[in-house]
Amino acid sequence: MKHFDITEWSDFARGVTDEGDRTAMNAHVASGCVSCRDTLNLVNRVLESARAHVSSEPPEDVVRCAKAISALLTPRRSGLSRLVARLVYDGLSDPVPAGLRAEDRVSPHGLYEAGPFSIAVRLEQERGASIATLVGQLTNREAPDRAMDEAPVLLMAGTDIIAHTIYNQFGEFQMDYPPSGSLRLCVALDHPAKRLEVLLKPLTPRARARKMPPFSHKQRSAREPKT
Ligand SMILES: [Zn+2]
Repeated sequence: MKHFDITEWSDFARGVTDEGDRTAMNAHVASGCVSCRDTLNLVNRVLESARAHVSSEPPEDVVRCAKAISALLTPRRSGLSRLVARLVYDGLSDPVPAGLRAEDRVSPHGLYEAGPFSIAVRLEQERGASIATLVGQLTNREAPDRAMDEAPVLLMAGTDIIAHTIYNQFGEFQMDYPPSGSLRLCVALDHPAKRLEVLLKPLTPRARARKMPPFSHKQRSAREPKT
């Protein structure tokens, strides 16, 4: 069975494949090829987020990002080496501002480092909300003023991509996600081509809860009237 590569699926998703190929590709997916279907799903998601970010769609960026995401997901096959960032600072040790209880602080944040790269991450979630927001910025400390090549950032839970976006020339990115236990960020780096991994677990609510004073949750729920 002949498979189609990510460039072909990008063309397919953008509707620029010629009729004959299109029919063959439709038939191929319909015949049950899981890997091609996954590639097509991925490309569709990249296309969706590209359309959400800009009004005029940049096709070559979509293809480049789809390829970068594919490389991120299959680092061994793509020969991408892996850099695991370590947490060098977490906001948990910050003094709590006057008038705020420790458990009211809703934006855990931290700074990670790997080689010359720093990555600042802040997690924002309103109490009770089912969606949280991750705000981050990647910096190359050896060339802090150089514009970055925009590239994808994936938020993974196990092997699932639960959110993804593209960081801009300043290394900034933001994405909404459904909170989950052990999340990690996979960031594509172009120069050198690497996959930067950031484990978010130390910043997530459960890890924070262990550092909170005992019984704080119970006290609060006892005080709050049930509605
Ligand atoms: Zn296939």
